Amino acid sequence: MLQRLVRPLQAAFLFLILGPLFAHAAPAAPATVRFSVIKTAALPVREGLLFSGGRFGHEATSNFSAFLVQHGEHSFLLDSGLGSRVAEQYAQDMPLWMRPFFKYEDPVLPARDQLARAGLPAVTDIYLTHDHWDHASGLGDFPQAAVWVSAPERIHSQISQGTPGGAWPSQVGSPSIQWRTLTFQPVPYEGFDASLDQYGDGSVVWVPMRGHTPGSVGLFLRLNSGRRYFFVGDTVWSVAALKDASPKFWPARLIVDDDAARTQQMIDLIRAAMVRDPALVIVPAHDASVQDALGYFPKWVE
Ligand SMILES: [Zn+2]
Repeated sequence: MLQRLVRPLQAAFLFLILGPLFAHAAPAAPATVRFSVIKTAALPVREGLLFSGGRFGHEATSNFSAFLVQHGEHSFLLDSGLGSRVAEQYAQDMPLWMRPFFKYEDPVLPARDQLARAGLPAVTDIYLTHDHWDHASGLGDFPQAAVWVSAPERIHSQISQGTPGGAWPSQVGSPSIQWRTLTFQPVPYEGFDASLDQYGDGSVVWVPMRGHTPGSVGLFLRLNSGRRYFFVGDTVWSVAALKDASPKFWPARLIVDDDAARTQQMIDLIRAAMVRDPALVIVPAHDASVQDALGYFPKWVE
């Protein structure tokens, strides 16, 4: 009888002592990593205006998108798309002579409204690939969010306001924006000389892509499925440009690319990454052909 009682007690004792050790040794389940494309507006555009060698007889679609990225319990926006106040911002800050070349069309469906309609909380962090108007327009819709940019991009957003290809005071000029600095480590990644592994698990890795603007950044995502995506901002406007390493159509390049030679180097790095991993999906900020294939919020890419 005593023996019958002692054995369970011994087992319970061993479980209490050793259980936590085993629990500790068991590998933690990987965080859920997935993303969703939030299309806030779209514009038909001649392919020839997107990149050198593009066809002027072929109509492409340029999206204005934000990307919702989830890593475990944390979610953030990559770019903010066109926001609820884009009409006022455009009227105030788009130079008249640039309006024929840089425009948007209604309807605009701000990311904030799409998230709210889906019952999702407003995001607490927004990362900008760069500070141009079509990426920063939605910042004001998330006043509680921290806004992350690289150090050179923060300087750019301060000194370029009011210049062609510069940031807009109506979007980045508010003193209430909670700026944060995206700081790279001297750790090479995919040919880039620095990187930032945001969660330390290799799933969300930022790289500097100076060229289109002085502090442009790119993002490599590795999902739980093992699929990999490379968000390249406006380094190219179309994946078709990568085939022949084509720069932007030359007048656009002159206006919007801060450093055309550096932008070309970034295009070469993207192409090299594609050669190393042919399954890598390149996601330019504006290319609707890529984003159509991924599907749109509330659909997730997993
Ligand atoms: Zn853009």
